[in-house]
Amino acid sequence: MLAYTYVEKGCFELREKPVPEIKDAKDAIVRVTLSSICTSDLHIKNGAVPRAVPGITVGHEMVGIVEAAGSSVKTVRPGDRVAVNVETFCKECFFCRKGYVNNCTDPDGGWALGCRIDGGQAEYVRVPHADCGLTRIPDSVTDEQALFVGDILATGFWAARISEIQKGDTVLIIGAGPTGICTLLCALLKEPGQVIVCDRDEERLAFVKKNYPQVIAVLPGKLPELIGRVCSHGGADVVIEAGGTGETFRMAWECARPNATVVIVALYEEPQILPLPDMYGKNLTFKTGGVDGCDCQEIMDLIAGGRIDTTPLITHRCSLTQIGGAYRLFENKDDGVMKVAVRCSEDALHR
Ligand SMILES: [Zn+2]
Ligand SMILES: [Zn+2]
Repeated sequence: MLAYTYVEKGCFELREKPVPEIKDAKDAIVRVTLSSICTSDLHIKNGAVPRAVPGITVGHEMVGIVEAAGSSVKTVRPGDRVAVNVETFCKECFFCRKGYVNNCTDPDGGWALGCRIDGGQAEYVRVPHADCGLTRIPDSVTDEQALFVGDILATGFWAARISEIQKGDTVLIIGAGPTGICTLLCALLKEPGQVIVCDRDEERLAFVKKNYPQVIAVLPGKLPELIGRVCSHGGADVVIEAGGTGETFRMAWECARPNATVVIVALYEEPQILPLPDMYGKNLTFKTGGVDGCDCQEIMDLIAGGRIDTTPLITHRCSLTQIGGAYRLFENKDDGVMKVAVRCSEDALHR
């Protein structure tokens, strides 16, 4: 089968590999119908993910059809359509029992797929702990509707949850890329008073204005004035930073009101500095890190119920053999690209 492979820093390549087989009774093999490209894949390519293993198949955001299931898999059967969770978790260890599945202590726990073990920019993928890592897709939901459930939408949902948005709050979301938009969709479910989305990319701001007219979309240069004008208490009640640069990190704490919660979901390529003397007395609460992807069933139910729709994010489509070009497009943010849906096997044509 074809598999997009992390060869070395700066180099991914489409290679021929054997179809994966079940290694453990808890595994499932999924025939990938659609896969997508995530900014985290670019971080691997740039050498910014030290735990990524050269030679692995990349890709951790996909949907497909269960081809085979190990003898102890209970929740899915061959033939089921499923969304694959970016995170592998056991549901049994100390962290899993508390819901912190990102810190699962299983050898495959956490972000393993497409990082430490073979992922899903391929025709088939082996999913360990399949009972936890697969969410069945109802017949009423298409593959494109479900494509982001296991990764960027799980991240947005988690960010909105841990940010503890209260009804009526002013929420600032920094970054109008795919993860920022998923965060926005999930934040809107909490009925905030107003939502501000900030990005330096005019095309992305136009995307927000077109699809979510109830949201204020603003360039970074205009953000301080806007915050001063629309926030009654000197800043946003909740800030969610999904931008991932030094500038966006600084904006996150600067634009928060005293005693606000600042949630950092971005994955930076360099360390960031908190200038504690400058922020003394602001008494901010910071929450940081990688998604705990344990809400995928709830997210799938919200999609099936028409409460979340991420399909406008799919701006481009291609087949697995064209994935190199799709990476170039995604990396350079050409042609207004938000997300690319990559057809990995031909069933995708019919869904
Ligand atoms: Zn990702
Ligand atoms: Zn665990």
